[in-house]
Amino acid sequence: MGYEITHRIGGQDVATAGSTQPIMNPATGAEVGTLHLGDADTVDQAVRSAARAQREWAKVSLARRTQILFRMRQLVIEATDEIAVAISREHGKTIGDAKGEIARGLETLEFATSITQDLKGGFSENVSTGVDAHTVRQPLGVVAGITPFNFPAMVPFWMHPIAIATGNAFILKPSERDPSASNVVARLYQEAGLPDGIFQVVHGGKTVVDALCTHEGISAVSFVGSTPIAQHVHATASAAGKRVQALGGANNHAVVMPDANIEFAAAQVASGAFGSAGERCMAVPVAVTVGDVHEEFLAAIKAEAEKLTVGPGDDPATDMPPVITPEARERVIRMTDEAEQAGGRIVVDGRGLVVDGHENGNFVGPIVVTDLDRDHPTYTEEVFGPVLVVMHVNNFDEALDLVNASPFGNGTAIFTDSGHYARRFQEEVTVGMIGINVPIPTPVGYYSFGGWKDSLFGEHHAHGPEGIGFYTKQKAITTRWPSQNETVESSMSFPTHD
Ligand code: NAD
Repeated sequence: MGYEITHRIGGQDVATAGSTQPIMNPATGAEVGTLHLGDADTVDQAVRSAARAQREWAKVSLARRTQILFRMRQLVIEATDEIAVAISREHGKTIGDAKGEIARGLETLEFATSITQDLKGGFSENVSTGVDAHTVRQPLGVVAGITPFNFPAMVPFWMHPIAIATGNAFILKPSERDPSASNVVARLYQEAGLPDGIFQVVHGGKTVVDALCTHEGISAVSFVGSTPIAQHVHATASAAGKRVQALGGANNHAVVMPDANIEFAAAQVASGAFGSAGERCMAVPVAVTVGDVHEEFLAAIKAEAEKLTVGPGDDPATDMPPVITPEARERVIRMTDEAEQAGGRIVVDGRGLVVDGHENGNFVGPIVVTDLDRDHPTYTEEVFGPVLVVMHVNNFDEALDLVNASPFGNGTAIFTDSGHYARRFQEEVTVGMIGINVPIPTPVGYYSFGGWKDSLFGEHHAHGPEGIGFYTKQKAITTRWPSQNETVESSMSFPTHD
């Protein structure tokens, strides 16, 4: 019922007979569309089409590639409403939040339009007498991106503009929960003049992911999703000889120091904890109060949580949307129940929330829990919902130890008025992205995005300069042009640079 989402291969809609799954609206619980699911043959078809097109694309001038990216930028801006509505319908997030992720995705496209600058190699004259050296960076070939449900536009945009600008063909396997945005992007690339086969979309689940990780025609895999699947993709694709970057889950802590502006900190932590129902890898599911601010912070965060309107993403009055599936909602409620049974104090309780007219939606209200032990799963695991756990410690060193004890290392924040503690925090914390009085320190598109520890497997962070490094390999060329009558005695010694 509803609309159908097919694969986009070689510039065409490609259906897979027989294998489909419903696309659901999280705000209503209703089926809105049907997604075609690929398999190893669909992947093979896409790789063949990509390989043919990429051989030509790698030779297309940088100026021409840039012109296509500029056209694409304009088309995405013009289609922002269409993409945002599709994201909100399938993901649930508010239209404003969806437009925000499109804007953040465009940052990487804008960065990629500077490819003329970023692909400049190095050149050294006379590295030895009469010998010059230079380097170039060349595309890898056909590369794949596998992306999560929570940012159906932005996360793929971390990948494809740079992969394409550097001369690769890109195959996207988006989340099966909110697939429509990727097909709109494929249509826009075609309208922008990108040759067929350079950006393709294959939909599906594990079967498609495993086929992408093992297909011999694919040189590199970029993955963003949960930690167990990141580890699986990293291990499988690495074993198949591919370059891999696999960004995993998170459990980001915000430290609230006694000298912080508590109202400011509570407002910022609330936006990190409850924005997009906590379904962001840079969400703030843990606050750590230091010293005597614990009760004052709890009162302030309670006031912030109680201000929020929970409702469908297409209602302009909504602050916090539903979570993605009924299972995600049940997990949030179960993990809160378990926290309570273990002696946790429920400061804000959104478990029983019902949104009028949306009784079948996956709604749950904001939840704030405190007084949990350090080994309780509701604190240690990624809940990925609107649950804020507030931990308490006595001093800065204990806060630092708590943050560093987490196996995840995606993002973290400190709220303080003290430059001394802010500086110690940024230097000593074992986390990849740090906010100082900033709750969601997501780097802009011309820097790179990546966590440490169980939040990233592989050597390269996403987008920005590390994206150029990931999607290209270097050639170092040494050149000598002897004159027709130049002679040289042959030497068996290793050459030195005289
Ligand atoms: P997920 O790991 O379930 O899915 C991610 C991708 O992997 C999807 O395309 C999915 O189809 C595929 N997949 C799912 N199960 C698979 C399996 N068994 N084998 C092979 N492939 C499989 O993640 P999700 O629920 O879509 O997204 C939420 C997760 O992503 C959270 O853990 C969040 O922290 C993480 N995330 C991380 C970042 C980051 O930058 N580190 C960014 C966004 C989301």
